Amino acid sequence: MTYSNMTHNGPPGHILRRRLGAALVALALGGTAALTGCAVNPATGGRQFTLFSEAQEIEMGRGYDPQIVAEMGLYPDDALQRYIQELGGRLAAQSERPNLPWTFRVLDDPLVNAFALPGGYIYVTRGILAHIGSEAELAGILGHEIGHVTARHSVGRMSTQQLAQLGLALGVALRPELEGAASLAGAGMGVLFLKYGRDDERQADDLGVRYMLRGNYDPREMPAVFDMLERVTQDAGGGGTPEWLSTHPNPGNRRERIAAQVAAQPGGSAGAVVGRESYLKRLDGLVYGNNPREGFFRGNQFLHPDLEFRFTFPEGWQTANQKSAVLAVSPKQDALIRITLADAASPDAAARSFFAQDGVTAGPPSTTRIDGLPATVGEFSATTESGQLRGRVAFIAHKNAVYQLMAYTAEPSWTTYDATLRQALASFGRLTDAAALAAQPLRIQTVTLDQAMTITEFARRYPSAVPVEKVALINHADPETRFEKGAVLKRVVGQVVS
Ligand SMILES: [Zn+2]
Repeated sequence: MTYSNMTHNGPPGHILRRRLGAALVALALGGTAALTGCAVNPATGGRQFTLFSEAQEIEMGRGYDPQIVAEMGLYPDDALQRYIQELGGRLAAQSERPNLPWTFRVLDDPLVNAFALPGGYIYVTRGILAHIGSEAELAGILGHEIGHVTARHSVGRMSTQQLAQLGLALGVALRPELEGAASLAGAGMGVLFLKYGRDDERQADDLGVRYMLRGNYDPREMPAVFDMLERVTQDAGGGGTPEWLSTHPNPGNRRERIAAQVAAQPGGSAGAVVGRESYLKRLDGLVYGNNPREGFFRGNQFLHPDLEFRFTFPEGWQTANQKSAVLAVSPKQDALIRITLADAASPDAAARSFFAQDGVTAGPPSTTRIDGLPATVGEFSATTESGQLRGRVAFIAHKNAVYQLMAYTAEPSWTTYDATLRQALASFGRLTDAAALAAQPLRIQTVTLDQAMTITEFARRYPSAVPVEKVALINHADPETRFEKGAVLKRVVGQVVS
């Protein structure tokens, strides 16, 4: 949960979502009415059936981009953002579709991930940046994503049925106050991230290498990216699962295929850019892993240093801290608690607009104090597609913001959860724990070796806040790998917050 995402972009991703929903449904309908049919694929030269014109494709990317920024957050480092835009823009300018509104962004997300939207919108996470080791590797990743766009994979694969689902998913998102446990998985967004097929992946790999070569980057760096992705998969749990692999199937042979292709390049790669040290220096200070400033869990207690509040979720519930909300679902997945910022000047005003929603009925809300903070609380029941819901809502004013705490379940389960939900909502309070308030994220720091050493020796001499295996992983090495004097290595500095 971040303040900037909730306030500067308008608290609710839901306002954005609402507009986008309408826009995309309209787009979907327009798309079917005016089938563009078969077109020549710009990157491959082959003929391809597509529902979309280029203008529609651009409109789709442009429509989703603000939603992705709101849901995932931009990494707040202008220099790094400019660098990605400049590097990506240079590669895309030499592609078959140089005139798309190419936009490259670094998302403030610890997961190892990169993805593309139709129309030329490409995203890499700070997580993937922390895990790669050269500008050429980054060029390979961006080139691969550019390839998905130039070969029109997303739009090519999107069928009318999928478009209908997209409209449906966004329709559900129109009622964000009442959306179910599915929101834990970020409902509505996943639909656009269609899984690419193997052929699409091979093609994007080939195009990625093509764009690396055109940009004078050494394609021999690319297989290392696959090695890293495989290792991240193996020790998922630390930095999270590599989402890149879930949308980009990796049938093991992709690495070998690329390696063979690279080895067969006529004239080798003499003079091609690797850009290892210059790239690594850019990572100095990069946030690594979850950023505790945006909130963290201590057991079932949620602590938010930036927003200075705490909240205790029921024992055993599954929790998720998203950019615009903190959520928890019961073990049986039949009850949900959701904390967001309300777009209102006072708890009373927030309550009035909540209870004025269609389908929502309520007893009279009452004014009270929670941990000394002004609050308006009430019970509601709501009619939804998934049945009758019953819940409790609290609006609390704290530090120039109004929080909306909503807890609900299906009507028949109300008596089971009533007491638990009541107790949870009353647990909101000011954060005063000095250690929690001072929590800082871990950061990447680069070190130039003054003598040769192994990763194990490096970790002893320049301690990291993560295990030696992790240090080895982010340096694309094993604990026993020996580096020469002058090599630049990454370490992770800071205090693990718990
Ligand atoms: Zn891919």
